Amino acid sequence: MLRIILLGAPGAGKGTQAAVISRKLTIPHIATGDLFRAALGQGTDLGNKAKAYMDKGELVPDDVTVAMVLERISEEDAKSGYILDGFPRTVNQGTALDQALEVNQQSIDLAILVDVSDEELIRRLSGRSICRTCQTPYHSENNPPKEAGVCDLDGGELYQRDDDKAETVGNRLQVYSNETAPLIHFFESQGKLVRINGEQDISVVEKQLFDVIDAK
Ligand code: ADP
Ligand code: AMP
Ligand code: ZN
Repeated sequence: MLRIILLGAPGAGKGTQAAVISRKLTIPHIATGDLFRAALGQGTDLGNKAKAYMDKGELVPDDVTVAMVLERISEEDAKSGYILDGFPRTVNQGTALDQALEVNQQSIDLAILVDVSDEELIRRLSGRSICRTCQTPYHSENNPPKEAGVCDLDGGELYQRDDDKAETVGNRLQVYSNETAPLIHFFESQGKLVRINGEQDISVVEKQLFDVIDAK
């Protein structure tokens, strides 16, 4: 039973690694960006509320985001643990999560920081495409699909996210360093932070992540 947080900038490889961890540990991969994009695709109020923020690379307000996550982690499949990807993204979100877990005598077990330089993040985001159906990320050079433009897993169409275009990426990295990076110290002071060098082959990062998880 593990509750894991994957921390790292946009493009660090959180989604890529979370998918593997989720499969191997049979715990759900909960990615707030995926949840917002799914809500947007379905035209729900939540999706419409989030859209303006996502388009600009800003964070969706904490109250909306926290409520969405608390509801998701209360579902049946999350009873045996989960891996959070893209949440928390502010110290306020981290505190709200801790408080909500504490009510049920629960807590986060591990926060893993996947560390990648800005230069490499920009390269990864500019080459990323994701599946319209399952949101699996690919990269034109680092991790291409077997057939161009088509998801290996379900045949879904691959597309480039609007917010992965150069105009928005700069702001997203700035938002990360202003609003999300303070969580590194937050988890460090709780003794929960482990750092991994994310600037290595996908398989090497995966191995190091499992070394950390297996030691838990
Ligand atoms: P995040 O979820 O942190 O935003 P992703 O998992 O979507 O990041 O990865 C960002 C991009 O980088 C994707 O195109 C992915 O295929 C690619 N990628 C992920 N991990 C690595 C890695 N270790 N080395 C090179 N490219 C990677
Ligand atoms: P991501 O897929 O993680 O890159 O997230 C895409 C966008 O969704 C972000 O740029 C934000 O606008 C929004 N978002 C995702 N997670 C959060 C969060 N924890 N808090 C606020 N906004 C978020
Ligand atoms: Zn797919």
